[in-house]
Amino acid sequence: MVGDKVSDIQCAHRAGMRGILLETGHEPESRRRTQSLILADHRTRTLAGAAGWIITLTESTRPEYVENAALGFYIYHNFRHLYTEDEQRYLNAAMKALKGPSWGSDPLLNPDRHHPVTEHILKVGLGAYQYEVAQRILAEHGEAVFVNRCETCGQIVRTPIACLCTWCGHSWYERREELRERARSSVYNPTDE
Ligand SMILES: [Zn+2]
Repeated sequence: MVGDKVSDIQCAHRAGMRGILLETGHEPESRRRTQSLILADHRTRTLAGAAGWIITLTESTRPEYVENAALGFYIYHNFRHLYTEDEQRYLNAAMKALKGPSWGSDPLLNPDRHHPVTEHILKVGLGAYQYEVAQRILAEHGEAVFVNRCETCGQIVRTPIACLCTWCGHSWYERREELRERARSSVYNPTDE
């Protein structure tokens, strides 16, 4: 829990949560005195700092960063309109097949399930196929695709306008408008899942 009052931290601790104390530096003297007495789990001047600390806490449960998979995932989720109809179609067929093993068992009813591309996707895995398509898209539409990387760790973040790296906790909210402008001027077209 994040709060700027001593009572927020006490409330968090009563509920069995960790308390992050937000100290803006503009508090009245009396509050600053009580703030200095409280045992907060973390102290920070900004919300971004609080978010970064929370992220480093969850580090151990986070999947490992794999560049190719991250790129494939990023392109699939943010630039799906650059997939060809076929790429989208066979990827959908593979996803359906993975969800329900019995889906499409009749080749006459579900030819997509038995198409060689679908079989290929099921063999290499969704992530590997998304990376294959990402490479094609970057080769053909490289100028239309902005890959948003964390300026600290260099890893790919979730979306072209993301201002927080969930890998290392670094944030760059001061560049938010610049990223939005860039997203608007490209063919970026986010798809909501
Ligand atoms: Zn980072």
